[in-house]
Amino acid sequence: MSSVVRENVPLAPYTTFRLGGPARYFVNARTVDDVVFAVKFARERGLRVLPLGAGSDVLVPDSGFDGLVVRLVNLRGAVWNGNLLKAMAGEPLPKLAKEGAARGLSGLEYVVGVPGTVGGGVAKNAGAHGREMKDVLVEAYVVDEDGYVRTLKREELSLSYRSSSLPREGILVEALLKLREDDPAQIRRRIEEFLAYRERTQPWTERTAGCMFKNPPGDYAGRLIDMAGLKGFRIGGVKVSEKHANFFINEGGTADDAIRLIEHVRERVFEVFGIQLEVEIEILR
Ligand SMILES: Cc1cc2nc3c(=O)[nH]c(=O)nc-3n(C[C@H](O)[C@H](O)[C@H](O)COP(=O)(O)OP(=O)(O)OC[C@H]3O[C@@H](n4cnc5c(N)ncnc54)[C@H](O)[C@@H]3O)c2cc1C
Repeated sequence: MSSVVRENVPLAPYTTFRLGGPARYFVNARTVDDVVFAVKFARERGLRVLPLGAGSDVLVPDSGFDGLVVRLVNLRGAVWNGNLLKAMAGEPLPKLAKEGAARGLSGLEYVVGVPGTVGGGVAKNAGAHGREMKDVLVEAYVVDEDGYVRTLKREELSLSYRSSSLPREGILVEALLKLREDDPAQIRRRIEEFLAYRERTQPWTERTAGCMFKNPPGDYAGRLIDMAGLKGFRIGGVKVSEKHANFFINEGGTADDAIRLIEHVRERVFEVFGIQLEVEIEILR
């Protein structure tokens, strides 16, 4: 068993934003047993548990996380059976999208540019181009707070726009997805289009956490931030991207810079448009 609990582990390197302080306790899970062990370890000590995938949708505060982080990117494995896919929590979404395309299976190409894992993808109901994980998820296998593995049907996970009942309901260790047969050339063409679109419109190679705010009904957060004159606006070492205003770029700042920038942008957009932007990323307070 590889369940070694480490203490005081810096989290910034495990996030795409590269910000924030350490986890008090940290487990690098490679098996479901490691996850069960971590949950029980935390329970015995009354610690909060935080599952972490690729860290592409989180902002860790400078003070870090005063609990136990279970990192899941090394919980890997994918089994294809007809149009069904059983994938472990740490499988990267872009990899599965490309494997699906090679098999003539459609449904995951929409998340080919989402740099997250299956666990984070289901937890955030990740999506793009009008599709989301909800469209392909059949059921999820989660480790609950008592350390038992439970099966939750899609309907039990309250999947909605960039939201679900995970990780509240437990830590996803595996998911069953159902894809649809389609022409491999068509799926590959969509993949190329989606990736090219991203490169054109998003700060793809910078240190970001993706979109900071949810799009309000009928509008785009990026458009509102741009129209409020905030493209390029900076607090400390974190700035609003000039390429896509709903992305913040870390240019050597702190998590506190990012939090203050979030607050400033929300206030300005409210002053100008009367719209309250809702934060999309998870701030691990
Ligand atoms: C450049 C860039 C582009 C992006 N584009 C998109 C996009 O087009 N569409 C989109 O939806 N998102 C996008 N994102 C955001 C992000 O990639 C997705 O939300 C992704 O699904 C998060 O997965 P993750 O593994 O990184 O999760 P993390 O960031 O590690 O975690 C996110 C949340 O999920 C929880 N979680 C993680 N793993 C598990 C698990 N196994 N069980 C239970 N809970 C878990 C965490 O506790 C946390 O609350 C983008 C991000 C970046 C950096």
